[in-house]
Amino acid sequence: MKFTVGFQTQPLNPMQSMPRQPVTRSNHPCPCLVAVQFPHRNLTCTYFNDRFELHPGDRVYVEGKLEGHMGQVTHVDYNFKIKLSQYKKVIGMVETRVKGRFIAVGNHLLTRDAHTLPYEQARTWFLPPDTDEEPYVSYSDGEHFPLRDLTQFNVDPEVAQEGHEIYMEDQVVYWEVDHTKGRAIVNTLQPYEIEFTYQDGQISNLTCGCYHAGVCMHRVAAILQLRESLSLLEQNKPEWLNEEYLAAVEKDAFVEFAMHNQHPVNVTLE
Ligand SMILES: [Zn+2]
Repeated sequence: MKFTVGFQTQPLNPMQSMPRQPVTRSNHPCPCLVAVQFPHRNLTCTYFNDRFELHPGDRVYVEGKLEGHMGQVTHVDYNFKIKLSQYKKVIGMVETRVKGRFIAVGNHLLTRDAHTLPYEQARTWFLPPDTDEEPYVSYSDGEHFPLRDLTQFNVDPEVAQEGHEIYMEDQVVYWEVDHTKGRAIVNTLQPYEIEFTYQDGQISNLTCGCYHAGVCMHRVAAILQLRESLSLLEQNKPEWLNEEYLAAVEKDAFVEFAMHNQHPVNVTLE
């Protein structure tokens, strides 16, 4: 069955039902002051913005005390006179425009087009921009295991159980394999970024940004989700396993971000 999803989305809440205009990208957005609402903190604050074309309804990240929290633009003002030193800035925008083809595989939507929902875009749905300039230090012990046989995946049983629960709750909200480079986002109470290498059916260089020493539950969950998605793909679309690029997004996250925004959805579901 093939059908096209192509409709204007329904507003999620009154705030999102404000008048909307198409978002246009520009290298030189007009400077503006924006009111940003943070529902979880019950706060609305004003920020200076000269990096993004913003409209009411857009979701953004800011600097200052609310850094790391996603807020929603409620008002944009192009007439202002301020002292810049008194304002914090908008530092990131949640990019919700998605265009391309997906197939439903379990509770995820899969694409083989690297431009449809790339990691950098999906990352904005779950994580604030990385403003820390300190470089990452990483090291790999060279350990690897086949994705098909996780008995060789050396995990503490308790961690394996926790990882299994995260996986069962569909908290592995995104994964991407680009040639051999794999990345995933696991959205538990906090979102974590997982990286791995997937080559010749083997997983190696598996890391997570959390503080757990040793294999953590996020890594377990990401691997379980990748295994499930690829095994369902093998049953339904085996030819896709030959693709050099695959990415998957969890359905509820897709609906929340890609379909409840101010852009017409331009996605085909096969
Ligand atoms: Zn972790």
